[in-house]
Amino acid sequence: LFESVELAPRDPILGLNEQYNADTRAGKVNLGVGVYYDDGGRLPLLQAVRKAEIARLDAAAARGYLPIEGIAGYNKAAQTLLFGAGSPLMASGRVLTAQALGGTGALKIGADFLKQLLPNSRVVISDPSWENHRALFERAGFPVDTYPYYDAASHGLDFAGMLAGLRALPEQTIVVLHACCHNPTGIDPTFEQWQQIVQVVKDRNLVPFLDIAYQGFGDGLEEDASVVRLFAEHDLTMLISSSFSKSFSLYGERVGALTLVSSSKEEATRVLSQLKRVIRTNYSNPPTHGGTVVSTVLNTPELYTLWATELAGMRERIRSMRIQLVEKLKEHGVKQNFDFVLKQRGMFSYSGLTAPQVDRLRDEYGIYAISSGRICVAALNTGNIDYVAASIAKVLA
Ligand code: PMP
Repeated sequence: LFESVELAPRDPILGLNEQYNADTRAGKVNLGVGVYYDDGGRLPLLQAVRKAEIARLDAAAARGYLPIEGIAGYNKAAQTLLFGAGSPLMASGRVLTAQALGGTGALKIGADFLKQLLPNSRVVISDPSWENHRALFERAGFPVDTYPYYDAASHGLDFAGMLAGLRALPEQTIVVLHACCHNPTGIDPTFEQWQQIVQVVKDRNLVPFLDIAYQGFGDGLEEDASVVRLFAEHDLTMLISSSFSKSFSLYGERVGALTLVSSSKEEATRVLSQLKRVIRTNYSNPPTHGGTVVSTVLNTPELYTLWATELAGMRERIRSMRIQLVEKLKEHGVKQNFDFVLKQRGMFSYSGLTAPQVDRLRDEYGIYAISSGRICVAALNTGNIDYVAASIAKVLA
């Protein structure tokens, strides 16, 4: 049966991690990861999460099946993060949410549902995008193209290219947009640019699929939702995938949500019934632990405040690493201007390092990054930043 099965290519990021783990040099640094580490280089367990977990253990609740669409309080809280407390859109009953297996799971059930609805549509993703976007939508049966995004010359956004690319799309093309903290570049359109993007999406009758995996890592929980709210104000029907993996540091618990904005309450009921069929035939219903923890934190005022403070701490630490990286590169004699790193948002930076420079960083200095030059700023800390800056200076010299 399995004789003809070919070996699949290795996941490039996981491959990099294996190489890093096998490296015996003491000062090695892994900037290839996609997770937040604290200043001690550890994956944090948030206090708000810990408290919610203790409360859950104490409650000694039985582990029955959840509803197909997950925990109601979780879904409501996920909507509130997106649209804000007191959102008239939520009050209208047009919004529906299903708890999902991380942001990836949300994208996947969204993709499967869209394939039923628009079997002949295409999907477009940014060039570049999170590498799983293409694979995931292709697996769901869609042809996947790209729209222009990154401009290497300016280390910024190719906004004219992006807008022209979107304008040229056939109606009902599914457009995947990073609502904040673009992965992998760290470059987001400005709010004014988003206003133009939303207009093109509307004029061209495109289908927006907003991916928000880093809410709270850009400028703040509310600020980072501004693009979602802008799209909502334009009365667009859309899909939104949320991930809480990073914002709760709960990567392995698979906490995410898929939210759909429909055009009426009655339509929402029909849409949810079909989405539930997609879920039922994939994994039946979501797991309890992560969802309960996130729901408890989001729905308990003092835990919410604690969480928001801890999240702000992560955001500020990343920002401080951006500032220090730019300063230290200058101190180590780098002549090139790296100020663009300060404008980028979220965990990542397209550093502008070339693939041969990335190779040298790894081979000569034990510093691991992705060949595209993407570095995880959240893996920098006060203990390794000087070494990283000095090593980058040497490969740039
Ligand atoms: N979208 C983007 C843009 C991401 O960067 C990620 C995670 N790296 C995801 C979705 C998936 O998130 P999760 O780990 O919750 O599945």
